[in-house]
Amino acid sequence: MSGPAAVTARVVVPVPLPRPFDYLPPSGARLPPVGSRVLVPFGRRQLVGIVVDHGSPPADRSVKLRPIARVLDEVLLDDRLLELADWCCRYYGAAPGETANLLLPGALRRVKAFRPAPKPFIELTSTGREAELSRAPRQADLRDRLITGPLARRELLESGFSADVLRRMLDAGLVRAVEDPGVIQSTAGPELNAEQRHAVSAILAARHRFEALLLAGITGSGKTEVYLHAARRMLERGRQVLILIPEIGLTAQLVRRIESRLGAPAHVYHSGLSEGERLACWQAARTGRARVIVGTRSAVFLPLKRPGLIVVDEEHDSSFKQAEGARYHGRDVAVMRARKLGIPVVLGSATPSLESLHNATQGRYRLLELTERAGAANLPRWRIIDARGRSGRLDPELVRNIRRHLDEGGQVLIYRNRRGYAPVLMCAECGWSADCRRCDAHMTWHQANASLQCHHCGVHHRAPPRCPECGSPELLALGAGTERLEDQLKAEFAEVAVYRVDRDSMTGRHDFDQLLEKVRDGKPCILVGTQMLAKGHHLPGVTLAAVLDVDQALFSADFRAPERLGQVVCQVAGRAGRGERAGEFLLLTRHPEHPLLEAMARGDYLAYARKLLAERQAAELPPATALALLRAEAHQPEAPRVFLEQAGRLLHSKRIEMIGPLPAIMTRRGGYWRFQLWLQAPDRAALAGHLAARIEALHDLPAARKVRWHVDMDALEL
Ligand code: ADP
Ligand code: ZN
Ligand code: ZN
Repeated sequence: MSGPAAVTARVVVPVPLPRPFDYLPPSGARLPPVGSRVLVPFGRRQLVGIVVDHGSPPADRSVKLRPIARVLDEVLLDDRLLELADWCCRYYGAAPGETANLLLPGALRRVKAFRPAPKPFIELTSTGREAELSRAPRQADLRDRLITGPLARRELLESGFSADVLRRMLDAGLVRAVEDPGVIQSTAGPELNAEQRHAVSAILAARHRFEALLLAGITGSGKTEVYLHAARRMLERGRQVLILIPEIGLTAQLVRRIESRLGAPAHVYHSGLSEGERLACWQAARTGRARVIVGTRSAVFLPLKRPGLIVVDEEHDSSFKQAEGARYHGRDVAVMRARKLGIPVVLGSATPSLESLHNATQGRYRLLELTERAGAANLPRWRIIDARGRSGRLDPELVRNIRRHLDEGGQVLIYRNRRGYAPVLMCAECGWSADCRRCDAHMTWHQANASLQCHHCGVHHRAPPRCPECGSPELLALGAGTERLEDQLKAEFAEVAVYRVDRDSMTGRHDFDQLLEKVRDGKPCILVGTQMLAKGHHLPGVTLAAVLDVDQALFSADFRAPERLGQVVCQVAGRAGRGERAGEFLLLTRHPEHPLLEAMARGDYLAYARKLLAERQAAELPPATALALLRAEAHQPEAPRVFLEQAGRLLHSKRIEMIGPLPAIMTRRGGYWRFQLWLQAPDRAALAGHLAARIEALHDLPAARKVRWHVDMDALEL
C-alpha cells in the first residue's frame, strides 16, 4: 500500500488484539521502512513493534494518531518473512502481535540492552597445553576433550563440565573463547544404497524451485544420511540448510553427527538456550554465517540470507504444533516458507502423518520411500502378548523374554505411556478413587514422594493415609506407571542396571544425554520410560523393545488415537535391532484380537496408515476435510456454550459444516469447562479465509469477554 500518500506506519505490537495499529513517523523524521523495529507508545506503556505496512492518514479527522517514539533498527526483517507471518495470522487466526513474538528472539522484543553472547567455541591455548593440572582433575579432563580441536561451549557444558571449571580455565588463560572452530574434521559416512541415492537426487533436482518431498523411510533406513548428503551439496553451493527437529532432547546427538559429516559448525536454536545464545544464532542465520541450523519449531521463522534447503525430521511429531499464542504447525509453516523461498523442503519420518501422506496421494508432495534398514540391520520380529489378568504385576512371558535377551548380552527398552507409580488409587472398601477436583481425571499416585498428582493441571498434594470417604486404611494402587515398573524390574532383575526415563527422573538439562551416552557402552541393561524413549534415538545395543498397555488408545474417543498408537508402536519397535544383532518387539494388550493391532503387527506402517486414511475419508474427517475448532472455556459451563452459539450464528455459511457446541473430550480441566465448535470444509484455505474474515467480529461478540477462546486451525487435540 505504500505510495506517495503513505504517511502512517502500520505496526504490530505484542498484544493479543486482532489488528495492527497506525502511528505517525517519529517527530521530525521520515517514515521508517517496512520491516523496521520500532518503539511505540501503547496506552501508558511503550512497546517494541514491527512496521508491517505503510498507510494513508485516517479519514476520520478526530482520530489522533501518536508518533513512533524511536526507530530501533531499519529493515531488520525482510518482506518474505513478513509475508510468512501475515500468512500465519490469517491461516491460524492468530493476533498479528503474536507473530512479532515469532519473528524476533526474546532479546529483540525488549529495548533493554542485552549482553552479547559469548563467543561460542572454546580452544586450548599453548599455556593450557603445557599447564601442570594433576591437582585439578576436572580441568585436566576438560583439556583432554580439547586436545583434538575447539569445541562448542554448549557441548562442553552438556557433557557435564561445570560453567565454573570453564570460567577458571578462561581466567587462567588455559583456554580462550573463539568465534569459529576453524575447520571441523569431516568424515565421509557410509556409501548410500540405491533408494537413498534416488532420494538425494530427487531433493537436489528441486534445488532451484519449491518442492515438498515426503521421505518415508522405515526406522533405521538411513533418512538422516539422506538429509546430510543433500545438505552437503547445498553447502558446497553456498546455501544454508535449516533442519527442524521436534525436541531439544534430540539435538546434542544430531549436532555431533551433522558437524562431523558436513565439516561445518551447526548452529542451534531452541527454547532451552539462553536469550543471548538465541540472539547469536538469529544473527548468524540472518547474516548467512550460520550455514547449518538445527532447531525446534520456532526456528522455522529464523531469517535466512541464502536459504537452500529445509528439512523437517520426524515430521509426524505433534511437538511441531504450538499449543498457545499463535497456534501454528512448524511443519506446515516450513512447507509454506519453502514455497515462498522457492526451495525444496524434505519431510522425513518412519511413520508419516496422515496429513502428509494425504498430500502425497494428492500429488502435492512427492513420496520417496526407503523400504530397508541401512547397512546390516534388520527390522525386529513382532509378537503380540495377551496380557489379560495381570493386574499390575509384571507379565511372566515378558519377564522370560527380557531374561533371555539380557542373558544373550542385549539391552531392553520398555515403553509405558504413564509416569508415576499407579494411575489410580482406590479404596478397597467403598470404591472411592482419588480424582482431581479441577479436572475430569484420576490423580496419579507417585510413591517416591508419597503424593497424588494430576497430570493435566499440575495440582498435587500428599497421598491420604486412609480413605477420606470411609476411613478404611486399605487403599489399592491400580495399574502400573513407570515408577512401579522400575521397582518391579529392579526386584526381578537385580543383576543389571534399570534406568527410568521420564519427566520425573530426567530433570537436569543433560541427564538424558548422559544416560544415552552410558547406555551406548553396550552393557546389558533395562530402560523403562515414556515418550522420551520412543523418539529417534539410535541405541545399537537394544535387542528387545516392548510396549505395555495400549488398550486405552484402542478405545479412545479421539479419531486420531489409532494413528498416534500406530506411530508410537512402530517407533518403539524401531528401537530394537539397530545394531548387528537381530531385534525383537513385544506388544502387551488385553485385546489381542483387535483389528487395529492385527493391521499394525504386519509391520508395514505405510499400509496401516493408508488403511486409516481410507477410514478418515469415509468418515469425512481430516485430512480428507479441513477442520478448525473454535474453543472456549470458563469457570462456569454456561458462558462457553453461549459464546459458541453466538459465534456459530456469526460463522454460519452454506460452504461450512458446523457441529456443536460440543464438550471437549476432557470437559473440565484446571477448573475450566471446555467446549468447542467444529468447523469443517473441503478446502483448508477456504475455511481459514472464512474464519479470518470474521475474527474481529468474534472478538467483538458480547459473550467473548466472559470466556477464554481461540481458533485452532488443523486442531490436533479434541
Ligand atoms: P534413520 O534416520 O532412518 O533412523 P540413520 O540415517 O540414522 O537412519 O541410519 C541408521 C544407521 O545406519 C546409522 O548408524 C547410519 O550411519 C547407518 N547407515 C545409514 N545409511 C547407511 C548405508 N547406506 N550403509 C551403511 N550404513 C548406513
Ligand atoms: Zn473408602
Ligand atoms: Zn487436575
